[in-house]
Amino acid sequence: MLNDASLSSSGGRSDNRAVTAPHEPVVTATFAGSGDAFGSGGRYQTCIHLQGPDGFDPVLLDCGATSLSALKRLGLDPGQIAAVLVTHLHGDHFGGLPFLILDGQFSRRTAPLTVAGPPGIARRLTEALECMFPGSSTTSRRFDVATVELVPGSTTTLAGVTVSAWEVDHPSGASPLALRVVLAGKTIAYTGDTAWTDVLIDVASGADLLIAEAYYWDKNIPYHLRHTDLHTHRDQLTAKRILVTHMSTDMLDHQDQACFEIAHDGLVIDLQGEVSPSNAHRGSPQTYVAPSVLVIDDVGLIPMGRPEATAFFQVVNRRYEVGHSTIVTTNRGLPEWGEISEILSSQRRSSTDSCTGRSSSTSKGRLGACESTRPSQQQPRRPRRRTEKGGTAPPQTHAQPA
Ligand SMILES: [Zn+2]
Repeated sequence: MLNDASLSSSGGRSDNRAVTAPHEPVVTATFAGSGDAFGSGGRYQTCIHLQGPDGFDPVLLDCGATSLSALKRLGLDPGQIAAVLVTHLHGDHFGGLPFLILDGQFSRRTAPLTVAGPPGIARRLTEALECMFPGSSTTSRRFDVATVELVPGSTTTLAGVTVSAWEVDHPSGASPLALRVVLAGKTIAYTGDTAWTDVLIDVASGADLLIAEAYYWDKNIPYHLRHTDLHTHRDQLTAKRILVTHMSTDMLDHQDQACFEIAHDGLVIDLQGEVSPSNAHRGSPQTYVAPSVLVIDDVGLIPMGRPEATAFFQVVNRRYEVGHSTIVTTNRGLPEWGEISEILSSQRRSSTDSCTGRSSSTSKGRLGACESTRPSQQQPRRPRRRTEKGGTAPPQTHAQPA
């Protein structure tokens, strides 16, 4: 019932089609930040949020300087993050850690945080804290910040994930790493920033998802991957699914020609498990909260039980809180709209009286020309409507024939 224009099914290569009867996601990867160091395309710096099933706390892959804002924009709670896995010690990949740590301090966080990355990360983190907020590296907090060195060639278990590290080619004051993370049985491989190196073949081997840098289209830039590199080695990269990220303006200008899926801020990727008929309505609430636009199709087609209705309105209300649009459609006849409206209204009254959606950008994954499919163009974000009193007008939920 919950269809999301920005989601795609596991293993699929199209992101802009509706998904009916969603499978239960085992792991959800949310691109809070998909940009390069310089804000190309207006994107946030690298920050990928991995959420496992119940019992697993989320972990981050990299934490660029803008990550705290990127997470909060999507309604992802920084206080729940158990660990940050850092590929290399450049500011657009680890510069967000001081903000994340201080946010935990001021929000009275108590859960420990583990920061894992290249050997030397403890010293560089202390230096970053002291550079940005003098005295902050020695402040007493309610939570521990532990650092773990990921030695190239080693495998480490922390915060419920298993992390394997390979040294790559991207000078940054400490060994730069590509990482391979196993979470709840799903494998996410991540190149970080690097020139092409054959170790990436091992990193990607059989992974459920490979997240790869594609900094430029084909211009030879030292220490970075190009789309051309990934295309050349495509047959050696045996991951089930490949997304490219960390794109410069040059690569963004070529994304319609790309042979791989393109990440964008807010993109949610579900790595799915088996479907149980009894829980087919479920799924990670964050799966439905994060995208800018959510289309909920065929409301009223089948009766909603109490658990489904509760989940439905939790999602709608949470989306309202983070300012994302929700569009509701129904195939029920016009005379029945009142009945549906009555259901919505009663649920709204029983929840937080804020069943709404907001106008905002569309956000869709893309397919490249190699798939002979033209992607939709991303629309600019429109400003929120304002009331006469200057407050933000409550967005509306639209019901219309599907
Ligand atoms: Zn970078």
